[in-house]
Amino acid sequence: MPTTPRIAIVGAGPGGLVCARILQQHGLPVTVFEREAGPDSRSQGGTLDIHQDTGQVALRAAGLFDQFLALSRPDGQEWRLYDRHATLIRHDQAGEDDLSRPEIDRGRLRTLLLDSLAPGTVRWNHSVQAAGPLPDGNARLHHHDRAVEDFDLVIGADGAWSRVRPALSDAHPSYAGVTMVEAHFDDVDHRHPGIAHLVGGGTMSAKAGCRSLVLQRNSNGHVRAYVTFRGPQDWHAGLDLDDTEAVRARLLALYRGWDESLLDILRDNEGGFLNRPMFVLPVPHRWQRVPGITLLGDAAHLMPPAGIGANLALLDGADLAHAVIGHPTIDQALDAYESVMLPRALDNARTAQQMLTTLMPDTDTDSEAAVFPDPLWPAGGLPQAAPAHTG
Ligand SMILES: Cc1cc2nc3c(=O)[nH]c(=O)nc-3n(C[C@H](O)[C@H](O)[C@H](O)COP(=O)(O)OP(=O)(O)OC[C@H]3O[C@@H](n4cnc5c(N)ncnc54)[C@H](O)[C@@H]3O)c2cc1C
Repeated sequence: MPTTPRIAIVGAGPGGLVCARILQQHGLPVTVFEREAGPDSRSQGGTLDIHQDTGQVALRAAGLFDQFLALSRPDGQEWRLYDRHATLIRHDQAGEDDLSRPEIDRGRLRTLLLDSLAPGTVRWNHSVQAAGPLPDGNARLHHHDRAVEDFDLVIGADGAWSRVRPALSDAHPSYAGVTMVEAHFDDVDHRHPGIAHLVGGGTMSAKAGCRSLVLQRNSNGHVRAYVTFRGPQDWHAGLDLDDTEAVRARLLALYRGWDESLLDILRDNEGGFLNRPMFVLPVPHRWQRVPGITLLGDAAHLMPPAGIGANLALLDGADLAHAVIGHPTIDQALDAYESVMLPRALDNARTAQQMLTTLMPDTDTDSEAAVFPDPLWPAGGLPQAAPAHTG
């Protein structure tokens, strides 16, 4: 290991940022390249539940746990499950001191991580085009302006459509057969009491066959809806996705027969609908070690959103940072990191895949018997995450 290795992280998501934070805490300089123009250039999305045995382990390692707790919403762990007649099937409430998976708005988590870094660590508006190994064991980054820059270690933390991944593997994300259409509600407690009633303080899901309607409460009375169904990626064929009323009509047709209170999720949202087809990497996804380059988070193991992706990205970031800090060479650090991260990702990807198949069965049946073939969607996502390894 050079006395001061040159380390580049591509992507300022949760995984890349926590990795940068821990490296800096241990005196290792790092540069994060992020394609977004700045910290506020885009809304960071909905709410994340941060699990005790994964994401929280990483935030503790980064010395940010108390700040995280102060920003989190333990009451957001409340969970309601309805059938399509809006009958409440299950209702889990968070115990008073239950900190097993408090919710936090993604934007708040990102700001917490960004603020913990030395000024200038993140180079915004900097889209990396590719990465590749060099004969001397280092790695080269190809920047958007055609400049190149060499590092001792390049970490691909650049999410689903990683530009670093091709240096390690030929895998491409493919459509998982399920689409989520996102919708938004503001100030629900005053403007949408029906929605507020359905969602309570946390998350609710109404489900029948291969369709569900999911609501998640974020901070400040904001609720995000995920209209989730199995179907072809071009389910919207013939529609202009910017034509909100046409999309609404198509969705209402898809959910015909559902209770009127649930259909309000499709009728009353503010703004338009965002089409979010679900993509996944093949399982297993692994690679032969390449000197000086590795991946973490979605770049390494994009899987169905089963409530674990951000948690694993955080844990990967912490594990990788500790591996770099604790080993004499980058090669040894990557051996140690990948030997833990890859099997853990495989276990979780298999479970997430299984969950998707169970919850969104391939047959389009609405029979009540098919509604809950399984002990429901486990609160907090995966029943059992792989053991945490960090430090
Ligand atoms: C609808 C939905 C709900 C989800 N809910 C949950 C949940 O409740 N709990 C949970 O744990 N997970 C959840 N997930 C999964 C979670 O969002 C991801 O697993 C997590 O964000 C992955 O983190 P990451 O750091 O690997 O990558 P990302 O968060 O994707 O961050 C990647 C970063 O890299 C940047 N970037 C990309 N390409 C480049 C480039 N070429 N150059 C420079 N920068 C680049 C991006 O702009 C981005 O900032 C959900 C996912 C979806 C789709």
